[in-house]
Amino acid sequence: MLILQLQRHHVDLLKQEARKVHPVEACAMLFGKLSKNEALVKKVEVAPNKLRSTARFEIDPMRVVAAFNEADEEGLEFIGLFHSHPAPAAPSPIDLKFMKLWGDALWLILSSTEGNLAAYQIKDDKVEEATIIIE
Ligand SMILES: [Zn+2]
Repeated sequence: MLILQLQRHHVDLLKQEARKVHPVEACAMLFGKLSKNEALVKKVEVAPNKLRSTARFEIDPMRVVAAFNEADEEGLEFIGLFHSHPAPAAPSPIDLKFMKLWGDALWLILSSTEGNLAAYQIKDDKVEEATIIIE
């Protein structure tokens, strides 16, 4: 079972961003430490949703590159992507398509209508839900 560990201030930051841009989907990149069954978030990099959409999100590729380079210099690994839904916190058909492209990345989704978080990963072509621990 995969575990995603976040600190309270990370969750506060993500919820704050989601509230700010609602009903547009908020998005962020998550960096930290990865081990076999656990992802420990150390850094949340919020980015604007380039599409300004309520059903899809896209982060400017230049921001992705910059965030990856910075995290690399800090010795942090890429853990996954965050975005919010003005709907339940489950992957949409579009999300599933992109999840396959992002490989091992974890997808953290916040329902901006219900307020709950859920995390998913594609493993052997199947969607698995991760356990979220908030410190
Ligand atoms: Zn989505």
